[in-house]
Amino acid sequence: MQNGIAASRGVGIGSVCVIAEHELSFENKRIDDTEAEKARFEGAVEKFKTETAAMAEDIRKRIGPKEAEIMEGHLVMISDPTMSGEMKKMIDAGQCAESAVSAVCDMFIGMFSKMDDDMMRQRASDISDIKVSLLKLLLGIKDIDISKVEPGTVLVAHDLTPSMTSQIVKENVSGIITEVGGKTSHSAILARALEIPAVLSVPDITSKVRDKDTAIVDGTEGIIYINPEGDILSKYIIKREEFIKKQSELKSFIGKPTLTADGESVELFCNIGTPKDAKKALECDGEGIGLFRSEFLYMDNNHLPSEEEQFLAYKEAAVTMDGKDVIIRTLDIGGDKDIPYLNMKKEDNPFLGYRAVRYCLGNKESYITQLRAMIRASAFGKIKIMVPLVTCVEELREVKKLVSDIKSDLDKEGIEYDKDIKVGCMIETPAAALIADILAKESDFFSIGTNDLTQYTMSVDRGNADVAYLYSAFQPSVLRSIKNIIECGRTAGIPVGMCGEAAADPLMIPLLISFGLTEFSVNPVLVLTARSIISKWTKAEADALACKVLELSTESEIVAALKEAAKE
Ligand code: PEP
Ligand code: MG
Repeated sequence: MQNGIAASRGVGIGSVCVIAEHELSFENKRIDDTEAEKARFEGAVEKFKTETAAMAEDIRKRIGPKEAEIMEGHLVMISDPTMSGEMKKMIDAGQCAESAVSAVCDMFIGMFSKMDDDMMRQRASDISDIKVSLLKLLLGIKDIDISKVEPGTVLVAHDLTPSMTSQIVKENVSGIITEVGGKTSHSAILARALEIPAVLSVPDITSKVRDKDTAIVDGTEGIIYINPEGDILSKYIIKREEFIKKQSELKSFIGKPTLTADGESVELFCNIGTPKDAKKALECDGEGIGLFRSEFLYMDNNHLPSEEEQFLAYKEAAVTMDGKDVIIRTLDIGGDKDIPYLNMKKEDNPFLGYRAVRYCLGNKESYITQLRAMIRASAFGKIKIMVPLVTCVEELREVKKLVSDIKSDLDKEGIEYDKDIKVGCMIETPAAALIADILAKESDFFSIGTNDLTQYTMSVDRGNADVAYLYSAFQPSVLRSIKNIIECGRTAGIPVGMCGEAAADPLMIPLLISFGLTEFSVNPVLVLTARSIISKWTKAEADALACKVLELSTESEIVAALKEAAKE
Protein backbone atom coordinates (compact mmCIF):
# COMPACT_ATOMS: atom_id res chain seq x y z
CA MET A 1 0.00 0.00 0.00
CA GLN A 2 1.19 3.52 -0.71
CA ASN A 3 -0.31 6.88 0.07
CA GLY A 4 -0.60 9.87 -2.19
CA ILE A 5 -2.87 12.84 -2.73
CA ALA A 6 -6.53 11.97 -3.26
CA ALA A 7 -7.12 13.96 -6.44
CA SER A 8 -10.19 12.44 -8.07
CA ARG A 9 -12.78 10.39 -6.20
CA GLY A 10 -13.72 6.77 -6.82
CA VAL A 11 -12.06 3.38 -6.98
CA GLY A 12 -10.23 2.17 -10.07
CA ILE A 13 -8.87 -1.34 -10.50
CA GLY A 14 -6.93 -2.39 -13.56
CA SER A 15 -3.78 -3.34 -15.36
CA VAL A 16 -0.85 -0.93 -15.23
CA CYS A 17 0.49 0.89 -18.27
CA VAL A 18 3.63 2.86 -17.38
CA ILE A 19 4.11 5.97 -19.44
CA ALA A 20 7.86 6.06 -19.79
CA GLU A 21 9.76 9.31 -19.72
CA HIS A 22 11.91 9.69 -22.80
CA GLU A 23 15.52 10.75 -22.65
CA LEU A 24 15.35 14.21 -24.12
CA SER A 25 19.10 14.58 -24.42
CA PHE A 26 20.65 16.31 -27.40
CA GLU A 27 24.03 17.42 -28.55
CA ASN A 28 24.53 21.11 -27.94
CA LYS A 29 26.03 21.81 -31.37
CA ARG A 30 27.03 25.21 -32.82
CA ILE A 31 24.92 26.29 -35.76
CA ASP A 32 26.34 28.04 -38.81
CA ASP A 33 23.20 28.21 -40.94
CA THR A 34 21.08 30.03 -38.35
CA GLU A 35 18.30 30.81 -40.89
CA ALA A 36 17.80 27.09 -41.62
CA GLU A 37 17.84 26.34 -37.88
CA LYS A 38 15.24 29.04 -37.25
CA ALA A 39 13.09 27.51 -40.00
CA ARG A 40 13.43 24.09 -38.28
CA PHE A 41 12.46 25.74 -34.96
CA GLU A 42 9.49 27.53 -36.52
CA GLY A 43 8.38 24.29 -38.19
CA ALA A 44 8.34 22.61 -34.77
CA VAL A 45 6.44 25.54 -33.22
CA GLU A 46 3.86 25.47 -36.02
CA LYS A 47 3.40 21.70 -35.59
CA PHE A 48 3.08 22.21 -31.82
CA LYS A 49 0.43 24.86 -32.36
CA THR A 50 -1.55 22.72 -34.82
CA GLU A 51 -1.42 19.67 -32.52
CA THR A 52 -2.25 21.72 -29.42
CA ALA A 53 -5.18 23.47 -31.10
CA ALA A 54 -6.52 20.08 -32.22
CA MET A 55 -6.14 18.72 -28.67
CA ALA A 56 -7.88 21.79 -27.23
CA GLU A 57 -10.77 21.30 -29.63
CA ASP A 58 -10.94 17.62 -28.78
CA ILE A 59 -10.93 18.34 -25.02
CA ARG A 60 -13.59 21.01 -25.50
CA LYS A 61 -15.86 18.46 -27.18
CA ARG A 62 -15.11 15.47 -24.96
CA ILE A 63 -14.56 17.10 -21.56
CA GLY A 64 -15.55 20.74 -21.48
CA PRO A 65 -14.54 24.34 -22.23
CA LYS A 66 -12.85 24.95 -18.89
CA GLU A 67 -10.53 21.99 -19.34
CA ALA A 68 -9.76 23.03 -22.94
CA GLU A 69 -8.53 26.35 -21.57
CA ILE A 70 -5.45 24.59 -20.23
CA MET A 71 -4.32 23.66 -23.76
CA GLU A 72 -5.40 27.05 -25.09
CA GLY A 73 -3.17 28.57 -22.41
CA HIS A 74 -0.23 26.68 -23.93
CA LEU A 75 -1.05 28.17 -27.31
CA VAL A 76 -1.12 31.67 -25.82
CA MET A 77 2.21 31.13 -24.09
CA ILE A 78 4.03 29.80 -27.15
CA SER A 79 2.55 32.58 -29.29
CA ASP A 80 3.89 35.19 -26.86
CA PRO A 81 6.62 36.99 -28.81
CA THR A 82 8.76 37.32 -25.66
CA MET A 83 9.19 33.60 -25.32
CA SER A 84 9.69 32.63 -28.97
CA GLY A 85 11.63 35.87 -29.57
CA GLU A 86 14.15 34.89 -26.88
CA MET A 87 14.50 31.45 -28.45
CA LYS A 88 15.14 32.90 -31.89
CA LYS A 89 17.72 35.31 -30.49
CA MET A 90 19.65 32.36 -29.08
CA ILE A 91 19.50 30.58 -32.44
CA ASP A 92 20.78 33.76 -34.13
CA ALA A 93 23.68 33.62 -31.70
CA GLY A 94 24.56 30.12 -32.97
CA GLN A 95 22.72 27.84 -30.53
CA CYS A 96 20.79 24.84 -31.85
CA ALA A 97 16.97 24.96 -31.61
CA GLU A 98 16.86 22.29 -28.85
CA SER A 99 19.28 24.23 -26.73
CA ALA A 100 17.38 27.52 -27.25
CA VAL A 101 14.03 25.93 -26.33
CA SER A 102 15.52 24.27 -23.28
CA ALA A 103 17.34 27.35 -21.95
CA VAL A 104 14.47 29.81 -22.44
CA CYS A 105 11.85 27.45 -20.98
CA ASP A 106 14.12 26.69 -18.00
CA MET A 107 14.51 30.41 -17.40
CA PHE A 108 10.70 30.90 -17.27
CA ILE A 109 10.20 27.71 -15.23
CA GLY A 110 12.74 28.98 -12.69
CA MET A 111 10.99 32.35 -12.53
CA PHE A 112 7.44 31.00 -12.09
CA SER A 113 8.31 28.17 -9.72
CA LYS A 114 9.78 30.63 -7.21
CA MET A 115 6.48 32.51 -6.91
CA ASP A 116 4.40 32.03 -3.76
CA ASP A 117 1.14 31.69 -5.55
CA ASP A 118 -0.25 28.31 -6.67
CA MET A 119 -1.58 29.66 -9.97
CA MET A 120 1.79 31.11 -10.89
CA ARG A 121 3.58 27.92 -9.95
CA GLN A 122 1.16 26.09 -12.22
CA ARG A 123 2.54 28.22 -15.08
CA ALA A 124 5.95 26.62 -14.45
CA SER A 125 4.45 23.20 -15.06
CA ASP A 126 2.67 24.47 -18.20
CA ILE A 127 5.98 25.73 -19.58
CA SER A 128 7.63 22.47 -18.68
CA ASP A 129 4.91 20.69 -20.68
CA ILE A 130 5.54 23.03 -23.65
CA LYS A 131 9.29 22.42 -23.38
CA VAL A 132 8.91 18.63 -23.47
CA SER A 133 6.48 18.76 -26.40
CA LEU A 134 8.74 21.08 -28.43
CA LEU A 135 11.85 19.02 -27.72
CA LYS A 136 10.06 15.82 -28.75
CA LEU A 137 9.03 17.46 -32.02
CA LEU A 138 12.57 18.69 -32.66
CA LEU A 139 14.10 15.32 -31.76
CA GLY A 140 11.49 13.30 -33.66
CA ILE A 141 10.37 11.36 -30.54
CA LYS A 142 6.90 9.78 -30.59
CA ASP A 143 5.05 8.97 -27.32
CA ILE A 144 2.93 5.90 -26.75
CA ASP A 145 -0.58 6.55 -27.96
CA ILE A 146 -2.65 6.81 -24.78
CA SER A 147 -5.83 6.85 -26.84
CA LYS A 148 -5.14 3.22 -27.81
CA VAL A 149 -4.73 1.67 -24.33
CA GLU A 150 -6.88 -1.37 -23.54
CA PRO A 151 -10.04 -1.05 -21.43
CA GLY A 152 -9.26 -1.43 -17.71
CA THR A 153 -5.90 0.37 -17.83
CA VAL A 154 -4.36 2.20 -14.88
CA LEU A 155 -2.03 4.87 -16.23
CA VAL A 156 1.14 5.39 -14.20
CA ALA A 157 3.29 8.38 -15.09
CA HIS A 158 5.73 10.81 -13.54
CA ASP A 159 3.27 13.56 -14.37
CA LEU A 160 0.20 13.46 -16.51
CA THR A 161 0.48 16.50 -18.70
CA PRO A 162 -2.60 18.09 -20.25
CA SER A 163 -1.36 16.91 -23.65
CA MET A 164 -1.35 13.30 -22.40
CA THR A 165 -4.70 13.67 -20.67
CA SER A 166 -6.29 14.97 -23.84
CA GLN A 167 -5.73 11.54 -25.43
CA ILE A 168 -7.46 9.61 -22.66
CA VAL A 169 -10.53 7.66 -23.68
CA LYS A 170 -12.51 7.73 -20.45
CA GLU A 171 -14.05 4.27 -20.91
CA ASN A 172 -10.61 2.64 -21.17
CA VAL A 173 -8.80 4.23 -18.22
CA SER A 174 -9.81 2.97 -14.77
CA GLY A 175 -7.31 4.95 -12.77
CA ILE A 176 -4.39 7.36 -12.77
CA ILE A 177 -1.30 7.40 -10.55
CA THR A 178 1.44 10.01 -10.81
CA GLU A 179 4.61 10.91 -8.95
CA VAL A 180 3.92 14.64 -8.79
CA GLY A 181 0.97 17.04 -8.67
CA GLY A 182 -1.49 18.24 -6.05
CA LYS A 183 -5.24 18.64 -5.68
CA THR A 184 -5.26 21.76 -7.83
CA SER A 185 -2.76 20.66 -10.50
CA HIS A 186 -4.01 20.40 -14.04
CA SER A 187 -3.79 16.61 -14.03
CA ALA A 188 -6.09 16.59 -10.98
CA ILE A 189 -8.56 18.99 -12.60
CA LEU A 190 -8.70 16.92 -15.77
CA ALA A 191 -8.96 13.60 -13.92
CA ARG A 192 -11.92 14.99 -11.94
CA ALA A 193 -13.55 16.30 -15.09
CA LEU A 194 -13.20 12.85 -16.68
CA GLU A 195 -14.37 11.22 -13.42
CA ILE A 196 -11.37 8.90 -13.38
CA PRO A 197 -10.10 7.96 -9.89
CA ALA A 198 -6.63 9.46 -9.39
CA VAL A 199 -3.94 9.44 -6.73
CA LEU A 200 -1.11 11.90 -7.26
CA SER A 201 2.30 12.50 -5.69
CA VAL A 202 3.14 8.84 -5.04
CA PRO A 203 6.94 8.92 -4.77
CA ASP A 204 8.94 6.87 -7.35
CA ILE A 205 5.89 4.92 -8.46
CA THR A 206 7.04 4.65 -12.10
CA SER A 207 10.12 2.67 -11.04
CA LYS A 208 8.16 0.45 -8.65
CA VAL A 209 5.61 -0.92 -11.11
CA ARG A 210 5.69 -2.74 -14.43
CA ASP A 211 3.28 -2.95 -17.30
CA LYS A 212 0.46 -5.45 -16.59
CA ASP A 213 0.81 -5.27 -12.78
CA THR A 214 -2.60 -5.06 -11.10
CA ALA A 215 -3.26 -1.73 -9.42
CA ILE A 216 -5.98 -0.43 -7.13
CA VAL A 217 -6.45 3.35 -7.15
CA ASP A 218 -8.55 4.66 -4.28
CA GLY A 219 -8.94 8.27 -5.33
CA THR A 220 -11.26 9.05 -2.43
CA GLU A 221 -8.77 8.12 0.29
CA GLY A 222 -5.53 8.72 -1.67
CA ILE A 223 -4.32 5.11 -1.42
CA ILE A 224 -2.93 2.74 -4.05
CA TYR A 225 -2.10 -0.98 -4.00
CA ILE A 226 0.08 -2.76 -6.54
CA ASN A 227 -0.54 -6.51 -7.03
CA PRO A 228 -2.73 -6.65 -3.91
CA GLU A 229 -3.60 -9.79 -1.93
CA GLY A 230 -6.90 -11.47 -2.86
CA ASP A 231 -8.80 -10.23 0.20
CA ILE A 232 -7.80 -6.61 -0.44
CA LEU A 233 -8.79 -6.95 -4.07
CA SER A 234 -12.22 -8.36 -3.13
CA LYS A 235 -12.73 -5.55 -0.60
CA TYR A 236 -11.98 -2.94 -3.25
CA ILE A 237 -14.16 -4.60 -5.88
CA ILE A 238 -17.06 -4.16 -3.43
CA LYS A 239 -15.98 -0.60 -2.63
CA ARG A 240 -15.86 0.23 -6.34
CA GLU A 241 -19.35 -1.17 -6.87
CA GLU A 242 -20.71 0.80 -3.92
CA PHE A 243 -19.15 3.99 -5.28
CA ILE A 244 -20.60 3.43 -8.76
CA LYS A 245 -24.04 2.69 -7.25
CA LYS A 246 -23.92 5.83 -5.16
CA GLN A 247 -22.90 7.95 -8.16
CA SER A 248 -25.78 6.65 -10.22
CA GLU A 249 -28.21 7.24 -7.34
CA LEU A 250 -27.01 10.84 -7.31
CA LYS A 251 -28.20 11.25 -10.90
CA SER A 252 -31.77 11.03 -9.59
CA PHE A 253 -31.17 14.39 -7.87
CA ILE A 254 -30.53 16.22 -11.14
CA GLY A 255 -33.08 18.98 -11.69
CA LYS A 256 -34.65 18.47 -8.26
CA PRO A 257 -35.06 21.22 -5.68
CA THR A 258 -32.83 21.03 -2.61
CA LEU A 259 -35.04 19.92 0.25
CA THR A 260 -34.49 18.43 3.68
CA ALA A 261 -36.25 15.15 4.45
CA ASP A 262 -39.14 17.12 5.96
CA GLY A 263 -39.47 19.36 2.91
CA GLU A 264 -37.64 22.53 4.08
CA SER A 265 -36.09 24.21 1.08
CA VAL A 266 -32.49 25.49 1.14
CA GLU A 267 -30.37 27.00 -1.62
CA LEU A 268 -27.48 25.06 -3.11
CA PHE A 269 -25.02 27.38 -4.82
CA CYS A 270 -21.55 26.96 -6.32
CA ASN A 271 -18.11 28.43 -5.74
CA ILE A 272 -16.42 29.58 -8.95
CA GLY A 273 -13.17 31.28 -9.96
CA THR A 274 -13.83 32.52 -13.50
CA PRO A 275 -16.96 33.64 -15.37
CA LYS A 276 -16.70 30.53 -17.55
CA ASP A 277 -17.10 28.36 -14.44
CA ALA A 278 -20.66 29.67 -14.19
CA LYS A 279 -21.56 27.32 -17.08
CA LYS A 280 -20.06 24.43 -15.15
CA ALA A 281 -22.12 25.45 -12.12
CA LEU A 282 -25.29 25.26 -14.22
CA GLU A 283 -24.26 21.96 -15.82
CA CYS A 284 -23.74 20.55 -12.33
CA ASP A 285 -27.21 21.80 -11.35
CA GLY A 286 -26.08 24.61 -9.07
CA GLU A 287 -28.88 27.01 -8.17
CA GLY A 288 -26.74 30.14 -8.05
CA ILE A 289 -23.20 31.34 -7.40
CA GLY A 290 -22.46 31.67 -3.69
CA LEU A 291 -18.83 32.73 -4.15
CA PHE A 292 -17.15 34.13 -7.27
CA ARG A 293 -13.50 34.48 -6.23
CA SER A 294 -12.75 37.60 -8.25
CA GLU A 295 -9.01 37.55 -7.56
CA PHE A 296 -8.41 35.14 -10.43
CA LEU A 297 -9.21 38.00 -12.82
CA TYR A 298 -6.30 39.85 -11.26
CA MET A 299 -3.95 36.88 -10.99
CA ASP A 300 -4.38 35.81 -14.60
CA ASN A 301 -3.28 39.24 -15.77
CA ASN A 302 -0.07 41.22 -15.91
CA HIS A 303 -1.91 44.48 -15.19
CA LEU A 304 -4.81 45.63 -13.04
CA PRO A 305 -7.91 44.56 -14.97
CA SER A 306 -9.73 47.64 -16.22
CA GLU A 307 -13.33 48.46 -15.31
CA GLU A 308 -14.40 47.27 -18.77
CA GLU A 309 -12.52 43.95 -18.51
CA GLN A 310 -14.06 43.29 -15.11
CA PHE A 311 -17.50 44.46 -16.20
CA LEU A 312 -17.46 41.99 -19.10
CA ALA A 313 -16.38 39.14 -16.81
CA TYR A 314 -19.04 39.86 -14.16
CA LYS A 315 -21.67 40.43 -16.84
CA GLU A 316 -20.80 37.06 -18.43
CA ALA A 317 -21.37 35.30 -15.10
CA ALA A 318 -24.62 37.22 -14.51
CA VAL A 319 -25.95 36.51 -18.00
CA THR A 320 -25.00 32.82 -17.78
CA MET A 321 -26.81 32.48 -14.46
CA ASP A 322 -29.87 34.17 -16.00
CA GLY A 323 -31.37 35.86 -12.95
CA LYS A 324 -30.03 33.43 -10.35
CA ASP A 325 -27.87 34.87 -7.56
CA VAL A 326 -24.23 35.65 -8.41
CA ILE A 327 -22.38 36.62 -5.24
CA ILE A 328 -19.10 38.23 -6.25
CA ARG A 329 -16.45 38.63 -3.60
CA THR A 330 -14.40 41.79 -3.92
CA LEU A 331 -10.65 41.34 -4.28
CA ASP A 332 -9.33 39.00 -1.57
CA ILE A 333 -5.64 39.52 -2.02
CA GLY A 334 -2.71 39.12 0.37
CA GLY A 335 -2.20 36.23 2.79
CA ASP A 336 -1.10 33.43 0.49
CA LYS A 337 -2.34 35.19 -2.66
CA ASP A 338 0.14 37.53 -4.25
CA ILE A 339 -0.26 39.57 -7.43
CA PRO A 340 3.27 40.31 -8.60
CA TYR A 341 2.43 43.54 -10.47
CA LEU A 342 0.87 45.10 -7.36
CA ASN A 343 4.29 45.01 -5.68
CA MET A 344 2.75 44.45 -2.27
CA LYS A 345 5.12 44.81 0.64
CA LYS A 346 6.53 41.60 2.15
CA GLU A 347 5.08 41.22 5.62
CA ASP A 348 6.14 39.15 8.62
CA ASN A 349 2.57 37.95 9.17
CA PRO A 350 0.81 38.17 5.81
CA PHE A 351 -2.36 36.41 7.03
CA LEU A 352 -2.71 39.10 9.70
CA GLY A 353 -1.60 41.89 7.47
CA TYR A 354 -2.63 44.29 4.78
CA ARG A 355 -4.99 42.07 2.83
CA ALA A 356 -8.48 41.70 1.37
CA VAL A 357 -10.84 44.55 2.35
CA ARG A 358 -8.03 46.28 4.26
CA TYR A 359 -5.90 46.50 1.11
CA CYS A 360 -8.89 47.49 -1.01
CA LEU A 361 -9.95 50.32 1.29
CA GLY A 362 -6.34 51.54 1.30
CA ASN A 363 -6.30 51.53 -2.51
CA LYS A 364 -9.63 53.15 -3.19
CA GLU A 365 -9.07 53.99 -6.84
CA SER A 366 -8.74 50.37 -7.90
CA TYR A 367 -11.45 49.28 -5.44
CA ILE A 368 -13.88 51.77 -6.97
CA THR A 369 -12.99 50.37 -10.41
CA GLN A 370 -13.95 46.89 -9.23
CA LEU A 371 -17.12 47.99 -7.44
CA ARG A 372 -18.24 50.05 -10.45
CA ALA A 373 -17.72 47.04 -12.73
CA MET A 374 -19.82 44.88 -10.38
CA ILE A 375 -22.59 47.44 -10.00
CA ARG A 376 -22.76 48.05 -13.77
CA ALA A 377 -22.92 44.30 -14.38
CA SER A 378 -25.87 44.09 -11.97
CA ALA A 379 -28.04 45.42 -14.80
CA PHE A 380 -27.65 41.99 -16.43
CA GLY A 381 -28.52 39.64 -13.56
CA LYS A 382 -28.73 39.26 -9.83
CA ILE A 383 -25.30 40.31 -8.69
CA LYS A 384 -24.55 40.70 -4.99
CA ILE A 385 -21.39 42.24 -3.56
CA MET A 386 -19.55 40.34 -0.83
CA VAL A 387 -16.80 41.84 1.32
CA PRO A 388 -14.07 39.46 2.53
CA LEU A 389 -12.17 39.47 5.83
CA VAL A 390 -14.40 41.95 7.61
CA THR A 391 -13.33 42.46 11.24
CA CYS A 392 -15.27 45.56 12.26
CA VAL A 393 -18.41 47.37 11.23
CA GLU A 394 -16.52 50.44 9.95
CA GLU A 395 -15.14 48.39 7.08
CA LEU A 396 -18.63 47.39 5.97
CA ARG A 397 -19.82 51.00 6.30
CA GLU A 398 -16.92 52.28 4.21
CA VAL A 399 -17.66 49.78 1.43
CA LYS A 400 -21.36 50.65 1.54
CA LYS A 401 -20.50 54.35 1.28
CA LEU A 402 -18.38 53.67 -1.80
CA VAL A 403 -21.23 51.63 -3.30
CA SER A 404 -23.70 54.43 -2.64
CA ASP A 405 -21.36 57.08 -4.16
CA ILE A 406 -20.85 54.91 -7.25
CA LYS A 407 -24.62 54.49 -7.60
CA SER A 408 -25.05 58.28 -7.56
CA ASP A 409 -22.33 58.65 -10.21
CA LEU A 410 -23.98 56.01 -12.39
CA ASP A 411 -27.33 57.78 -11.99
CA LYS A 412 -25.72 61.02 -13.17
CA GLU A 413 -24.12 59.20 -16.11
CA GLY A 414 -27.43 57.54 -16.97
CA ILE A 415 -25.95 54.05 -16.64
CA GLU A 416 -28.28 51.18 -15.71
CA TYR A 417 -27.73 48.99 -12.66
CA ASP A 418 -29.74 47.11 -10.03
CA LYS A 419 -30.85 49.84 -7.62
CA ASP A 420 -31.42 47.22 -4.95
CA ILE A 421 -27.97 45.58 -5.22
CA LYS A 422 -27.14 43.81 -1.96
CA VAL A 423 -23.90 44.20 -0.02
CA GLY A 424 -23.01 41.40 2.39
CA CYS A 425 -20.18 40.30 4.63
CA MET A 426 -18.07 37.24 4.55
CA ILE A 427 -17.81 36.07 8.12
CA GLU A 428 -14.40 34.48 8.30
CA THR A 429 -12.67 36.10 11.27
CA PRO A 430 -13.33 35.54 14.98
CA ALA A 431 -13.82 39.31 15.26
CA ALA A 432 -16.67 39.30 12.76
CA ALA A 433 -18.13 36.15 14.34
CA LEU A 434 -18.20 37.81 17.77
CA ILE A 435 -19.95 40.92 16.47
CA ALA A 436 -22.20 39.04 14.04
CA ASP A 437 -25.24 40.59 15.76
CA ILE A 438 -23.90 44.11 15.08
CA LEU A 439 -22.83 43.33 11.52
CA ALA A 440 -26.16 41.65 10.76
CA LYS A 441 -27.96 44.95 11.35
CA GLU A 442 -26.03 46.63 8.53
CA SER A 443 -25.33 43.72 6.20
CA ASP A 444 -27.75 42.43 3.54
CA PHE A 445 -26.50 38.86 3.92
CA PHE A 446 -23.75 36.74 5.49
CA SER A 447 -21.62 34.02 3.99
CA ILE A 448 -19.49 32.02 6.39
CA GLY A 449 -15.95 31.39 5.14
CA THR A 450 -15.03 28.39 7.22
CA ASN A 451 -11.64 27.96 5.53
CA ASP A 452 -10.41 31.17 7.12
CA LEU A 453 -12.74 31.10 10.13
CA THR A 454 -11.11 27.81 11.16
CA GLN A 455 -7.63 29.20 10.52
CA TYR A 456 -8.17 32.35 12.59
CA THR A 457 -10.29 30.78 15.34
CA MET A 458 -7.78 28.00 15.90
CA SER A 459 -4.74 30.24 15.22
CA VAL A 460 -3.51 27.67 12.76
CA ASP A 461 -2.03 28.48 9.36
CA ARG A 462 -4.34 26.67 6.92
CA GLY A 463 -1.39 25.64 4.74
CA ASN A 464 1.00 24.41 7.43
CA ALA A 465 1.16 20.60 7.54
CA ASP A 466 2.76 20.59 11.02
CA VAL A 467 -0.33 22.11 12.63
CA ALA A 468 -2.88 20.57 10.28
CA TYR A 469 -4.11 18.30 13.09
CA LEU A 470 -5.68 21.40 14.68
CA TYR A 471 -7.21 22.68 11.45
CA SER A 472 -10.77 21.38 11.62
CA ALA A 473 -14.14 23.07 11.36
CA PHE A 474 -15.38 20.40 13.80
CA GLN A 475 -13.42 21.93 16.67
CA PRO A 476 -15.95 22.91 19.36
CA SER A 477 -14.76 26.53 19.11
CA VAL A 478 -15.43 26.71 15.36
CA LEU A 479 -18.82 24.99 15.66
CA ARG A 480 -19.94 27.41 18.38
CA SER A 481 -18.84 30.27 16.19
CA ILE A 482 -20.76 28.96 13.16
CA LYS A 483 -23.89 28.47 15.28
CA ASN A 484 -23.65 31.99 16.68
CA ILE A 485 -23.18 33.57 13.25
CA ILE A 486 -26.22 31.76 11.82
CA GLU A 487 -28.37 32.66 14.83
CA CYS A 488 -27.39 36.34 14.60
CA GLY A 489 -28.22 36.39 10.89
CA ARG A 490 -31.57 34.73 11.47
CA THR A 491 -32.47 37.08 14.32
CA ALA A 492 -31.77 40.04 12.04
CA GLY A 493 -33.77 38.38 9.23
CA ILE A 494 -30.94 38.20 6.71
CA PRO A 495 -29.95 35.12 4.66
CA VAL A 496 -26.90 33.23 5.94
CA GLY A 497 -24.85 31.08 3.58
CA MET A 498 -21.61 29.20 3.84
CA CYS A 499 -19.01 29.17 1.08
CA GLY A 500 -16.11 27.52 2.93
CA GLU A 501 -15.31 23.90 2.13
CA ALA A 502 -17.23 22.74 5.23
CA ALA A 503 -20.54 23.50 3.46
CA ALA A 504 -20.09 20.35 1.37
CA ASP A 505 -18.88 18.13 4.19
CA PRO A 506 -21.41 15.31 4.69
CA LEU A 507 -20.65 15.33 8.43
CA MET A 508 -21.21 19.09 8.74
CA ILE A 509 -24.43 19.25 6.70
CA PRO A 510 -26.85 18.03 9.45
CA LEU A 511 -25.37 20.58 11.88
CA LEU A 512 -25.87 23.37 9.35
CA ILE A 513 -29.47 22.27 8.81
CA SER A 514 -30.02 22.38 12.54
CA PHE A 515 -28.38 25.81 12.94
CA GLY A 516 -30.62 27.16 10.16
CA LEU A 517 -28.20 27.82 7.28
CA THR A 518 -30.18 28.99 4.26
CA GLU A 519 -27.59 28.66 1.49
CA PHE A 520 -24.84 26.09 0.92
CA SER A 521 -22.16 27.06 -1.61
CA VAL A 522 -20.00 24.19 -2.82
CA ASN A 523 -17.64 23.12 -5.57
CA PRO A 524 -19.85 22.41 -8.63
CA VAL A 525 -18.90 18.71 -8.70
CA LEU A 526 -20.30 18.32 -5.17
CA VAL A 527 -23.76 19.78 -5.84
CA LEU A 528 -25.54 16.45 -6.21
CA THR A 529 -23.74 14.85 -3.26
CA ALA A 530 -24.69 17.80 -1.04
CA ARG A 531 -28.30 17.73 -2.30
CA SER A 532 -28.52 14.02 -1.55
CA ILE A 533 -27.13 14.41 2.01
CA ILE A 534 -29.45 17.37 2.72
CA SER A 535 -32.41 15.26 1.55
CA LYS A 536 -31.67 12.62 4.18
CA TRP A 537 -32.10 14.80 7.29
CA THR A 538 -35.21 16.15 8.95
CA LYS A 539 -34.83 19.28 11.05
CA ALA A 540 -35.76 17.34 14.19
CA GLU A 541 -33.10 14.66 13.55
CA ALA A 542 -30.51 17.31 12.77
CA ASP A 543 -31.44 19.21 15.96
CA ALA A 544 -31.07 16.08 18.10
CA LEU A 545 -27.64 15.39 16.62
CA ALA A 546 -26.51 19.03 16.98
CA CYS A 547 -27.66 19.08 20.58
CA LYS A 548 -25.62 15.96 21.36
CA VAL A 549 -22.55 17.15 19.48
CA LEU A 550 -22.45 20.59 21.11
CA GLU A 551 -22.19 18.93 24.51
CA LEU A 552 -18.97 17.17 23.52
CA SER A 553 -15.58 18.55 24.50
CA THR A 554 -13.20 17.50 21.75
CA GLU A 555 -13.00 17.49 17.97
CA SER A 556 -12.37 13.75 17.84
CA GLU A 557 -15.45 13.00 19.97
CA ILE A 558 -17.51 15.27 17.73
CA VAL A 559 -16.28 13.69 14.50
CA ALA A 560 -16.85 10.19 15.93
CA ALA A 561 -20.42 11.09 16.92
CA LEU A 562 -21.12 12.61 13.50
CA LYS A 563 -19.66 9.57 11.72
CA GLU A 564 -21.81 7.25 13.79
CA ALA A 565 -24.94 9.21 12.90
CA ALA A 566 -23.97 9.75 9.24
CA LYS A 567 -26.51 8.78 6.59
CA GLU A 568 -24.55 7.73 3.52
C1 PEP B 1 -13.07 30.85 3.21
O1 PEP B 1 -12.17 31.45 3.81
O2 PEP B 1 -13.80 29.98 3.73
C2 PEP B 1 -13.29 31.10 1.77
C3 PEP B 1 -14.32 30.56 1.13
O3 PEP B 1 -12.43 31.91 1.13
P1 PEP B 1 -10.98 31.48 0.59
O4 PEP B 1 -10.87 29.97 0.69
O5 PEP B 1 -10.91 31.99 -0.79
O6 PEP B 1 -10.08 32.20 1.56
MG1 MG C 1 -11.31 33.28 3.02
